[in-house]
Parts: sequence; C-alpha cells; structure tokens
Amino acid sequence: MDLRDGQTQPILDPNQPTHVYHLALDIGGSLAKIVYFTKDDDRLVDVEEGLSHRKALEKSNGSKQYPVLNGRLNFKKFETSKINDCLDFIKSMKLHIGGRQPQENPGSQPIVKATGGGAYKYADLFKERLGIILDKEDEMDCLVAGANFLLEVVHQEAFTYMGDQKQFVQIDKNDLYPYLLVNIGSGVGMIKVEGEGKFERVSGTSIGGGTFWGLGKLLTKCKSFDELLELSYRGNNRAVDMLVGDIYGGMDYAKIGLSSTAIASSFGKAISDNKEREDYKPEDIARSLLRMISNNIGQISYLNALRFGLKRIFFGGFFIRKHPFTMDTLSVAVNFWSKGEAQAMFLRHEGFLGAVGSFMSSDKHGLKELLANQVAQRSPRKLSFAVDKILHSLPDGEFNGDESIECSVYAA
Ligand code: ADP
Repeated sequence: MDLRDGQTQPILDPNQPTHVYHLALDIGGSLAKIVYFTKDDDRLVDVEEGLSHRKALEKSNGSKQYPVLNGRLNFKKFETSKINDCLDFIKSMKLHIGGRQPQENPGSQPIVKATGGGAYKYADLFKERLGIILDKEDEMDCLVAGANFLLEVVHQEAFTYMGDQKQFVQIDKNDLYPYLLVNIGSGVGMIKVEGEGKFERVSGTSIGGGTFWGLGKLLTKCKSFDELLELSYRGNNRAVDMLVGDIYGGMDYAKIGLSSTAIASSFGKAISDNKEREDYKPEDIARSLLRMISNNIGQISYLNALRFGLKRIFFGGFFIRKHPFTMDTLSVAVNFWSKGEAQAMFLRHEGFLGAVGSFMSSDKHGLKELLANQVAQRSPRKLSFAVDKILHSLPDGEFNGDESIECSVYAA
C-alpha cells in the first residue's frame, strides 16, 4: 500500500483480492457476529486523488497520511444455533477468500481470527466447509480491545439514554480510563478497564440476555427474540409486578424514597392474583421480565462501579438491541442507586465489541493504525447508518443491528 509518486495507476496493487480486505468472527452462546471490511464499489483511490487529499490534510492538520482505500466496516450477526447461515453468508460473499495466508506456508489454508466459545466448537466445521483455519483469540481481550477501539476512534459511538432522551457523549481518548464495561450477552460480564490491555473481570451474573430470551420463550408463545422484544414494547409491568403502592394502599413509602410505582417485587402480583399464566397478557409478562433483568444488571453494575470508584459504566452486548426501555431501565437503576454520581452509557456497536476486537487482533500489518485514521469519523454525515432512526422509529428491517461504517484506510 505505498504511494508511487507521479504514477497514474491505482495506489493499491490491483492483483490483490479486491472485494474483501479482512474478516473476523465472534461466535457466542446465542449469536455469531462477523465484522468485515469491503472496498466501496471496488473503487481504488487513484494517485491524483490520494495526493490531493494528502495535500489538503497536510494543510489542515499537518498530517502526512493519505487515504489508499475507501470502504466499509460491515457488521452482521446470525443465531449461533443456525451457524450454517453464517457459513453460507461468508461463502456467498466470498469473505473467506481474503483471509491471511500463513507466512511460513504460503498457499495453505487461509487463517481467520475468531473469538468466543464457538471459535472452538465450530473450528472443524469452518475448516471442512470453507477451508479456513480459525485462529482463536481470547474473548475478554477482544471485548476490551473492541470497546477501547470503538470508543477512541468512532465518532458518536457512546451515548446516554434516559427519559426518551438520547445524547451522544464526546469521548476524550485521554480521559477514557478507568471505566466499567458491562457486556450483556447470554450471560453478563463486568470488567474494570484501566487502559489498552489493562483490565480485570470483576464480576458478572448468569441472569442476562439468555435468561430474558429463555424465560420469555417459556412464559410467552414467542418464536423469536425480536418478537419478545416487540411484545415488551406494548406491555405494562404493573399487571404482573407487585408495586410499593399495591402494598401501601396506593401511597408512596416516602420515608425511604420509594414512590408508589416502584417495583417492590418483580412478578410478585402473580402470587396474590387468583390467576393462571394464561390469564396474564404475554406483553405484560415480557415487559416485567425485561424490567426485572435490566434493573438487576443496572444495580449490580452500579455496585461494582462503586467498589472500584468508577464513574462511567459502558453497557454493551446484544441484549440491549438499542431498546429504549432497556436502556432507560439500566440508566435509571445506575442513576438511582448512585444518586446521580455514576453514569450509564451505551455503545452504538453494542453487540460487536468482541468481533471488532477480534478484527483488530489480526492486525499484524498495521491495519489498526490505518483504520484508526479514517476520515469518515470527522464527518458524521458520511456514516452510512443513522442511530437516531433506529432509536426513534422501528419500521421492519431497521432493528436488526446489521450496519456498516464508511471508512478510509490511510497510509503514512
Ligand atoms: P453471546 O456472545 O453470548 O451470544 P451477545 O452479545 O451476542 O452474546 O448477546 C446475546 C443475547 O442477545 C441473547 O441472549 C439475547 O438476549 C439477545 N439477542 C438480541 N438479538 C437476538 C436475536 N436475534 N436472537 C437471539 N438473541 C438475541
């Protein structure tokens, strides 16, 4: 990827694979996530363009870097139970062909970085069906590396969400650490992050996304996670939860600051009502369940933040799915218990932290540095997906979390 001054041919070697530059995977207990880089319309940046861009950049910020490749980081997820869909997709898009060849043995099977338990469980399947070797990376390392990278590099990655108000938080990368990373996947991991590669898993809970989906499936007739989430939108937890007001005859318990609408006992109303499960609306059950799990995670997160004096909690993982109610519940729990001292924040690429970390780990050739200087981040207009849209309106097809970021690869 070097610039050949004065020549008119493309900067990139046209003989190299043009469709995909890079692929990485994170195969978790519930979902398999992939991140891959593609060039825009197979368009190479020509020398003239690269040079004029470099001149403009040199003028504006003294940088000697210039773009050599414009493209997208693409994000896609599949249910792990349907791992063959993931393999079919990779095959149909020929994503595996761009995999790294082992230097010591060129021409042998391409190597693709992968993390999560599925990198072990499905290694043989990937080898048999796609002829690729999964090079395993540690799950925690990838999670933290992915979160750090996204927070440091991607414009408007982090945001707060409370009372229907979403606010992007401008992260100063010199003031990012320490923070608590709470990853809500099938289970929940809580990690104190103090810097690049400097972290400790301090807590977790098995009551996480898998619990919501598993219990939700048993308690309602939902056939998919999205259906369960959709149901929870319409429900009212008061029909199922025992509220302070139910116990206090409609009054607040003001002395300890509990309003009549605070939940005294999740699902507690079911013990006193003379009803069967079928008598409750599935949407009310879904709502109570979502609230119970989110509240619990918010509270444990706050306690761990308190334990280590951390003021910022970043929530990731696909349980969140940018669901306003989930984010609001987590934020309110953190805010309530910390009396406003700690702040809950969310990541736009919530479920892809591990996959991004895995993608970055394969950077033996400076790709991380190249991507870290992408121009698109300075121009949010250029980002190809709009989070606002996802949060405020949810027409079909916009709630699936598969997105892409326009970016440019730079060379110094
Ligand atoms: P893991 O790596 O454990 O699979 P994720 O961060 O991918 O963790 O999150 C998995 C959780 O995300 C599930 O347990 C479920 O609560 C939620 N989820 C979101 N979307 C889906 C979906 N389409 N199918 C199944 N679970 C989903």
